[in-house]
Amino acid sequence: RAPRAPYVDPEAGAAVKAADRAHVFHSWSAQGLIDPLAVAGAEGAYFWDYDGNRYLDFTSGLVFTNIGYQHPVVVAAIQEQAGKLATFAPAFAIEARSEAARLIAARTPGDLDKIFFTNGGAEAVENAVRMARVHTGRTKVLSAYRSYHGATSTAINLTGDPRRWASDTGSAGVVRFWAPFLYRSPFYATTEAEECARALQHLEDTLAFEGPSTVAAVVLETIPGTAGIMPPPPGYLAGVREICDRYGIVFVLDEVMAGFGRTGAWFAADHDGVVPDLMTFAKGVNSGYVPLGGVAINAEIAATFETRPYPGGLTYSGHPLACAAAVATLGVMEDEKTVENAAHLGEHVLGPGLRELAGRHPSVGEVRGLGAFWALELVRDRETREPLVPYNATGEANAPMAAFGAACRKNGLWPFINMNRTHVVPACTLTEAEAKEGLAVLDEALFVADEHTVEGV
Ligand code: PMP
Repeated sequence: RAPRAPYVDPEAGAAVKAADRAHVFHSWSAQGLIDPLAVAGAEGAYFWDYDGNRYLDFTSGLVFTNIGYQHPVVVAAIQEQAGKLATFAPAFAIEARSEAARLIAARTPGDLDKIFFTNGGAEAVENAVRMARVHTGRTKVLSAYRSYHGATSTAINLTGDPRRWASDTGSAGVVRFWAPFLYRSPFYATTEAEECARALQHLEDTLAFEGPSTVAAVVLETIPGTAGIMPPPPGYLAGVREICDRYGIVFVLDEVMAGFGRTGAWFAADHDGVVPDLMTFAKGVNSGYVPLGGVAINAEIAATFETRPYPGGLTYSGHPLACAAAVATLGVMEDEKTVENAAHLGEHVLGPGLRELAGRHPSVGEVRGLGAFWALELVRDRETREPLVPYNATGEANAPMAAFGAACRKNGLWPFINMNRTHVVPACTLTEAEAKEGLAVLDEALFVADEHTVEGV
């Protein structure tokens, strides 16, 4: 079914693969158990290997190519910046950097008008926490289970994901709490309103026992992404905002994955009209063409550092190539109405299409999301909600998800798979025809997952 790739060169692919296997140490992997695909090229929502296979990328890399691969405007802007000024130290005012900061600040909500640049999401989270601690003079930080904030020391410690266990040595003052997730409610709630009220009460209780005057920050993904794309119930984020205000706690929203158009708004917080004190971003800011992330800082916290030095920095903060890519990306998103396209896809194509699949396939326990940001929760039993595979399953135990993934790839779709879920997170520039092509492949692959359900056996 997959269209042929633009060219075929298996020998070149084999050489790339051999050098990779000999020398590249891959993240999150048992090096001897992986078999990375050798990729020859990419364009728009597709990439291809050296063997004539082309894939529709329903992962946008790691949920970052919001405008797709190889956008000519962004590629040209990087080339132009490289010719003009390829690199320069962060202490200077550089056109690409100041322009990127101006454009980002114009899109972030409220008074989040100062931008601290980093090279990615984890560094953004590290610095947001540092800012909150220095600003408040407090050390404790609250973060949620079922979250992902990055793999550096503090960021992995804030991450409420089982992958944390192996590398987390604990960092002083991090306390985790439960954020709302109605499908597997930590509060045994049965309605959104109940889940919201109980989650807010749980945060209040956690603060009461930790001592609110010792807490520097509450850190949340606006919509938890890696952990399962779980939009919070209406009112939850506004409730957290109110609690943070009451206790003088810095409210940090992590928009590394959900920001820059992914949800059909510039930022996920825009849907709720909630303005955090600090907002972290990365990925979609320049579609990952050159590593870039940052923290958008509100006026009050920025004022703290007007006369007092900020105790942190990075050699490549606001790298000219990354910033030029951001300026170009933001221009493309305006010109091509990328944010509107993501909203349209979610409302009229992906949302209805995925719900239709859920109606037909007993393996789909829940469909949730918005924009170009969706998760299908695959289950063995829709009644009990038993996941299709256990948490952190490997080998035989993970066979049903592995078979589902293989069925997608065989038919030209590259799926995002995490535990018992597949996330549908394509480029925000995806066309309706491409979305329908992907939905048709998912439909077929779900029959494979259905075979592992109580209804299917
Ligand atoms: N925060 C969130 C919400 C993320 O999704 C990620 C990456 N998936 C990070 C932080 C970490 O970003 P990076 O991998 O660029 O360090």
